[in-house]
Amino acid sequence: MISSLFINATIIISFLYLGSQILKSENFIMSISIKDKTLLGILCGLAGCILIFYSIHTYNNVLIDLRVISVLIAAFYGGYISSVIATFMIVFFRIGYYGITYISVIASISLFIISLIFSYISKTKLSFIKKYIIMSLVNIIYGVILYSVLVDDLKVLSMVNISFTISTIIVSIIVYYTLKYISKTNELYRKLRLESTKDYLTGLNNVREFDKLLNMHINSAVEKNENISILMIDIDFFKHINDTYGHSSGDLILKQLSNLLVKSCRSFDIVSRNGGEEFTTILLDCDYGHAFTIAERMRKAVEEYDFIIEGNKEIHITVSIGVGAYPYPTEEISTILKVADDALYNAKRSGRNKVC
Ligand code: GH3
Ligand code: MG
Ligand code: MG
Repeated sequence: MISSLFINATIIISFLYLGSQILKSENFIMSISIKDKTLLGILCGLAGCILIFYSIHTYNNVLIDLRVISVLIAAFYGGYISSVIATFMIVFFRIGYYGITYISVIASISLFIISLIFSYISKTKLSFIKKYIIMSLVNIIYGVILYSVLVDDLKVLSMVNISFTISTIIVSIIVYYTLKYISKTNELYRKLRLESTKDYLTGLNNVREFDKLLNMHINSAVEKNENISILMIDIDFFKHINDTYGHSSGDLILKQLSNLLVKSCRSFDIVSRNGGEEFTTILLDCDYGHAFTIAERMRKAVEEYDFIIEGNKEIHITVSIGVGAYPYPTEEISTILKVADDALYNAKRSGRNKVC
């Protein structure tokens, strides 16, 4: 029995690991998509079918299996959709494997009922641990009732129920700690992935993400024969602002400027902080004329904005902006960034607070 239990726990852990890899980017605390709920249901269903295959032989050769735990996991994360899919798969597999018998009909109907109970519990606002304990208790009560209906001999029944209860408790504890571990590592993975693309101070895309997005949109613009423009934005005399008001006031300005830049362009444009006090905006499907208008609107918005620095003091800053646009006037798309950079340099050289 111990070796069977070990095999069952190993199967469940393998599927948990597989599921965690496939659904790595999902945040299960928020709700997950229908596609992923379906995938989760299929995975749990598959695990349930395999668990039937490795049923545990108990007293008097009565078989017990832990497939209900896989339905529990499906319901826990994917609610009704996942648990019903998993249940259907298990029921069809069981009937296909053992044929339609009195036992298989009772087991199938009761599995559907318990999957609905699990899904209902999963929708409650209880904490992770409380939900899990209640669902596991329901699982044990379900099993004990089911075996009481199916096994007549009292001695056999009590031995089977003891084996089932102990097996379920052991595997449920193992599953609980595995789920906790997986959710913790996946959360860290999502956090790191997000942070690797964002600038820590402003929350805008960082330079690495900018490069990736620029390459992607350049390829797409060439393919679809679309316009694409780039604005390079640099704060004028920012060093002086830092020297006068302090570095933390400088940081406050960078944050406020980020919001202002995002507000000044369209919702699908891509604003990034490319380093220090330099920002870029990728304007999708936007020609030179429109790009210039947007840049001028940004420049003016910054000029008129009351930036609040430490001590609730109001100050004003200006920015210089260089524009690069494909296919006119920049015909060679690979030089678009350099064109925008040269234009920014010209804006600086010719007096600042201007768009070139
Ligand atoms: P210009 O008009 O020619 O652009 O002059 P500038 O002073 O803005 O340009 P410069 O490149 O000489 O200085 C940029 C300054 O930006 C220097 C640095 O102290 C400041 N800076 C860079 N990163 C940060 C940051 O994260 N926070 C703050 N507060 N300042 C920063
Ligand atoms: Mg500057
Ligand atoms: Mg600079």
